[in-house]
Amino acid sequence: MTRSFDAIICGAGITGVAAAHYLAKAGLTKILLLDERPPLSFTSDRSTECYRNWWPDPVMLALMNRSIDLMEDLANESGNVFRMNRRGYLYITAEESKIPALIERSKRTSNLGAGQLRVHTADSSSYQPAHPEGFANQPTGADLFLGSEIIQKHFPYVSNRAAAALHVRRAGWLSAQQLGMYLLETARRFGVRFESERVTEVDVANGRVNGVRLRSGEFINSPIFIAAPGPFLKEVGGMLGLDLPVFTELHLRAAIKDSLGVVARDAPLLIWDDAQTLPWEKDEREVLAADPEAHWLTETFPAGVHTRPEGAGESQMILILWDFKTRAVDPLWPPTFDEQYPEIALRGLATMLPRMKEYFTKMPRPQLDGGCYTRTLENRPLIGPMGVDGAYIIGAVSGYGIMSACGAGDLLAAHIIGKSLPAYAPTFELARYKSAEYLREIEAMGDTGQL
Ligand SMILES: Cc1cc2nc3c(=O)[nH]c(=O)nc-3n(C[C@H](O)[C@H](O)[C@H](O)COP(=O)(O)OP(=O)(O)OC[C@H]3O[C@@H](n4cnc5c(N)ncnc54)[C@H](O)[C@@H]3O)c2cc1C
Repeated sequence: MTRSFDAIICGAGITGVAAAHYLAKAGLTKILLLDERPPLSFTSDRSTECYRNWWPDPVMLALMNRSIDLMEDLANESGNVFRMNRRGYLYITAEESKIPALIERSKRTSNLGAGQLRVHTADSSSYQPAHPEGFANQPTGADLFLGSEIIQKHFPYVSNRAAAALHVRRAGWLSAQQLGMYLLETARRFGVRFESERVTEVDVANGRVNGVRLRSGEFINSPIFIAAPGPFLKEVGGMLGLDLPVFTELHLRAAIKDSLGVVARDAPLLIWDDAQTLPWEKDEREVLAADPEAHWLTETFPAGVHTRPEGAGESQMILILWDFKTRAVDPLWPPTFDEQYPEIALRGLATMLPRMKEYFTKMPRPQLDGGCYTRTLENRPLIGPMGVDGAYIIGAVSGYGIMSACGAGDLLAAHIIGKSLPAYAPTFELARYKSAEYLREIEAMGDTGQL
């Protein structure tokens, strides 16, 4: 007999489990969640697990504020099983000339709804340092430090060349795995069923979703199909005859044991916001510059190298990330990783954290992995109807899929259940690309705020 469900979700990464959770919570309980891999084992297992509400794009900021509200609710109801903290993001610059623009941008983001901006100079004493664990009773908004003296006072491990630093406060990190498992387990309690299977076809009859075909050959009836396949969005969109406007980029991360304690264990996420050239000894630089294959290592690298402490208790691990060579790739698995990445990223970090140089002669053994950002051109997600009756999408969540998952799942559930939608909903629908005005708007868009 053909099985029937009220909704089928393809993909049990963080977006798929969040969709299941919020749909089930909204009352749709006969849901089948399908994934050919174990839940939460693909891209969602390879992130930095960070979140922030500080976005220059007002609709992204609103989505993140909503998502963080929901994550805080889940943390409160679960006894914070996913260890959400609010240590913040610290964006640092050594370039005095960038300070006026930084102040301007910070004021603008604050006014968009990210919270109060507090400015501190050398004699200021009102800064409230972040608590390393939890998020209760801690400031939101951001603290802007001007001058190296006050930066050194609060973050002594950062280079004394730092001229300004912006500490974004409704931000931090959590365990994405534990958050995902909590969403999944609660969804299961509401009646959601998970099965390990691959969706190979979506059946559409008379312009309406009818069901899906699985790799096993089984056909399952469902009037609702939700595409949450992460990097395989293009492929799954094709099952509905759609060419979705998304592409994938490979992003790497390295983990090393910081046995010298260069990064304080209570540090926020530390981001060097200036372009730089890598620190080499004079003779090393000469050799590299003369080698056509290695010459690029002496050229200017982009801003954005970042790190944070990883793990609780006695852990000495740190995560290191730097998108210095991002390129669009097909979502092939396993990807080829650039073995030079950890050393380059560690050298880049030494500009922000000078004691990293102590590792140059004996590089700690790195663990290297990564995954794909699946994104749209303007870096906004796709959440809502797909243009075929009964088909919905939740994806293209780029480098922010963990922090946005709850807000995205909640928004998708509102679309499906027919609840009133927030003002930002149309900006994330696929139908936005039909508007010539929208296409002009995204062409003119500048910084999307993605690390
Ligand atoms: C290096 C790196 C750092 C990052 N840092 C952060 C961060 O700090 N904060 C943040 O918020 N985000 C971060 N991200 C982004 C975040 O990890 C992703 O946006 C998010 O995990 C995407 O989740 P997903 O559920 O859409 O995709 P996935 O986790 O990839 O899940 C998709 C699932 O769909 C399944 N699937 C696909 N096709 C089918 C099919 N036909 N049938 C059945 N199953 C199918 C796959 O098996 C997979 O399990 C980072 C990403 C990377 C790579």
